[in-house]
Amino acid sequence: MGDATHSIASKLPETGTTIFSVMSALARECGAINLSQGFPDFPSDPRLIEGVYRHMQAGHNQYAPMPGLPALRQAIAGKMARTQGVHLDPETEITVTAGATQGLISAIQALVHPGDEVLLFEPAYDLYRPAVELAGGRPVAHQLKAPDYAVDWDAVERLIGPRTRFVLVNTPHNPTGSILGRSDWQALERLAEKHALFVLSDEVYEHLIFDGEQHCGALQCTGLRDRSLAFFSFGKTFHNTGWKVGYVAGAGHLMQEVRKVHQYTVFSVHTPTQYALADYLQDEQTYLGLPALFQQKRDRFLQALRGSPFRPLPCRGTYFVTCNFRALSALPDLEFARWFTREHGIATIPVSVFNHSGLDEGVVRFCFAKTDAVLERAAAKLKTLAAV
Ligand code: PMP
Ligand code: GLN
Repeated sequence: MGDATHSIASKLPETGTTIFSVMSALARECGAINLSQGFPDFPSDPRLIEGVYRHMQAGHNQYAPMPGLPALRQAIAGKMARTQGVHLDPETEITVTAGATQGLISAIQALVHPGDEVLLFEPAYDLYRPAVELAGGRPVAHQLKAPDYAVDWDAVERLIGPRTRFVLVNTPHNPTGSILGRSDWQALERLAEKHALFVLSDEVYEHLIFDGEQHCGALQCTGLRDRSLAFFSFGKTFHNTGWKVGYVAGAGHLMQEVRKVHQYTVFSVHTPTQYALADYLQDEQTYLGLPALFQQKRDRFLQALRGSPFRPLPCRGTYFVTCNFRALSALPDLEFARWFTREHGIATIPVSVFNHSGLDEGVVRFCFAKTDAVLERAAAKLKTLAAV
């Protein structure tokens, strides 16, 4: 036991190291194909990389304006108008952040008061719960279940109490690949208006949506436009997760509060990258081709799974597909994922870690944002499994 003056009470006693670091480290250690942590293994467009370099050479190397480079905020407003039909004031309704992560953390810190309840949908991306707890809020979870992870909005309404202030949604949804459709948004709109709730909407996979479906976001709903913030990630959109650039968009009165935290967490984001993104966004082909690119990868991976003991669950968006592995093993999913990485050389993410209840449906998540060569190698391994 440490001396009392040297020990500190953890503010996040239940939080360990994120599963993404854990599984990527294990994949490296075992020389396994890493289909766990969500990042592409193919390069970002050389035009964009060259743009960053060009702007560095041009001397754009000092602090950008705190809320983001005006040219980039304008380009984002243009893109949001084109793709979502949402009209944003770049001055007051868009803030460029160090990835969606910093946008989410800053918004939650700025808006959630101690004792506020925040409704989550589990399995939930792992930063939400600690972020809410750090702000003194209380996460309240609605459990989604395989195979389709659909939301039961009547059950959600039963979770709403006098302290409920926020609903945190994610569509397309990590880790399940499900999406919120029009009727989901209508239900949420009704609840938000009836119970005076704010909506935080994580839309980092807005462009990764398949089979001709359209992304529906919070800001597109008239009743939510003034009570919502939406979060986006250029890392996800332009295959450069390591650059950590994203943005928050939405109601100015909420954004004003978010910026109070943003200015003291990062102040501003990498300047030459913002210049390069502003140029790059002028060409809408840079993002309009993404659904086709990733749908082809999804289908190639689904093909690889055919005949294997993995049973894929519906994947309507994101670059993840979840699979039931019970035909292969009765292990708890975390143990299964470790075993599978070591014994079969493919790293995955166990879905139960995203359920606070620990609910384990025997499901793991595969990331298919990989080159065709890597997907082929994974397919070859999965085929041998079928013979086991
Ligand atoms: N939300 C979700 C649902 C994610 O999957 C991720 C991971 N990219 C993030 C937020 C964080 O995004 P970024 O890497 O831009 O911080
Ligand atoms: N969003 C990525 C995933 O779901 C991981 C991001 C991270 O490692 N923080 O795999």
